[in-house]
Amino acid sequence: CGRCLQCRTGNSHICKNTRIIGVDRDGAFAEYIAMPATNVLPLDGVPTTVGAIMDPMGNAFHAVLSAEIQGSSVFVVGCGPIGCFAVGIARAAGAAKVIASDVNAKRLSLARRMGAHVTINAATDDVVRTVLDETGGEGADLVCEMSGVPSALHQAFAAVRLGGRVQLLGIPKGEVPVDFASEIIFKGITVYGVIGRKMYETWHQMRRYLTTGLLDPRPVITHQFPLAKIDEALAAIRAGDAGKIILEIA
Ligand SMILES: [Zn+2]
Repeated sequence: CGRCLQCRTGNSHICKNTRIIGVDRDGAFAEYIAMPATNVLPLDGVPTTVGAIMDPMGNAFHAVLSAEIQGSSVFVVGCGPIGCFAVGIARAAGAAKVIASDVNAKRLSLARRMGAHVTINAATDDVVRTVLDETGGEGADLVCEMSGVPSALHQAFAAVRLGGRVQLLGIPKGEVPVDFASEIIFKGITVYGVIGRKMYETWHQMRRYLTTGLLDPRPVITHQFPLAKIDEALAAIRAGDAGKIILEIA
């Protein structure tokens, strides 16, 4: 809105008057939408397939780059598309070790293609034990929780090191009990809620990572369909194995 306290202090991603396109008003599946001019940015040579996924990728940039990454250990919980982007961004930004977990083997292989050094299958492996083993017993400097699954949220707090940082992006379906004393206070950690993108910092960072080749997010694009086959595209999403799906408009 440009006028509220948040907008005036450089935090327009948490503007109280925000109307999210696709949430508060019709979005990408509408026949026509009026896009606010401030939301339009030139692709500057970024391929349109990548341009099509820059919206969720911006959330991953916000989640990763609002923490200190260089030389750090990063644990990404949940390897959906945004989790996989976060893996690639953490690698590109200079993380020393990137660990990723999910319950889906296909998603874990995507995370490996995006640069994860270590992947953990949360359905079969001891997640917290593995993160501790991979970080010299300390836990990860930074944990990005991308799933919103209650068991994974607890793993995020258990796997972060004392004094570390947890970025919460995954949205739980309901209330999740938290032991504030042992999971947060006594560990001296910082918890950050990731909503939207930092306007416009995240956009410019993302565009530079893409145009300079620091980050190639294309492994996350697993399917492409013509618009007429949208039902097949939605079925692929529901099957749970897809990364990002591109609809081609001829
Ligand atoms: Zn505002």
